[in-house]
Amino acid sequence: MLKDKVAVVTGSTSGIGLGIARALATAGADVMLNGFGDAAEIEEIRRQMAAAHDVRVAYSGADLSTAAGVRGLIEATDAELGRVDVLVNNAGIQHTDAVQDFPDEKWDAIIALNQSAVFHGIKAAIPQMYARDWGRIINVASAHGLVASPKKAAYVAAKHAIVGLTKVVALESAQTGVTCNAICPGWVLTPLVEAQIKARAEEKGTSFDDEANELLAEKQPSRRFVTPEQLGDLAVFLCSPGGEEIRGQAFAMDGGWTAQ
Ligand code: NAD
Repeated sequence: MLKDKVAVVTGSTSGIGLGIARALATAGADVMLNGFGDAAEIEEIRRQMAAAHDVRVAYSGADLSTAAGVRGLIEATDAELGRVDVLVNNAGIQHTDAVQDFPDEKWDAIIALNQSAVFHGIKAAIPQMYARDWGRIINVASAHGLVASPKKAAYVAAKHAIVGLTKVVALESAQTGVTCNAICPGWVLTPLVEAQIKARAEEKGTSFDDEANELLAEKQPSRRFVTPEQLGDLAVFLCSPGGEEIRGQAFAMDGGWTAQ
């Protein structure tokens, strides 16, 4: 379905981004991977993805916490894969602290990556999508783009901002073949969440499994983690012809979290 389309997935060396990149490659898209990590492991991911799906897969280690870094990623994709048809803004980080203790530099870092990088990426990629009258922009927000939790001031602010930005871009592009939507996952067991579970277990002297179950019990009625594969399937659907008139929506895939 996505043969000859090129997808950029930010933060795709791990977790949800990797799941979405794999799903898009499975659907036939050439993929630009991005993110940090061990160079040899990333090269192995790149090689396997290309071989398994007979698509081109490139990698850029661009740091997306600056506008220049984000523009560099889009330019590298144009240079190596020729175009950008699908942009998945997924890279994100977390820090938890009460607002009065929240370090300024953590606020700035989260806003830079989780919020501003999404704006810079859309701004850099959308002109060529308009020129071809086809494009898919998918912003990975969060259940925390729809509701809040304590100790996540920067994260919740950035994720709500992305949901708003998604609506603006969807309205601006409404009469074109470009669509813009957000995906709002609940808990997904990725390194980002594992770090939070470990911190809670250490603080309370409990086990990782106990804290994982506790985390789910607090928020996610299904009591199961959402998976990167399920999120990948939703991203592929948004890129399909069936997704053509879905515009400006924030799709919760959260085991019932935001239905409460
Ligand atoms: P993760 O830590 O597994 O992956 C984050 C990715 O972003 C990695 O590839 C990492 O290298 C990359 N990254 C980090 N800083 C970067 C930077 N400055 N420039 C470029 N890349 C950078 O996390 P994840 O859980 O897969 O999270 C992915 C997205 O999903 C995030 O936006 C996160 O907020 C969102 N999300 C996660 C959950 C969850 O439960 N895991 C829930 C809702 C939303």
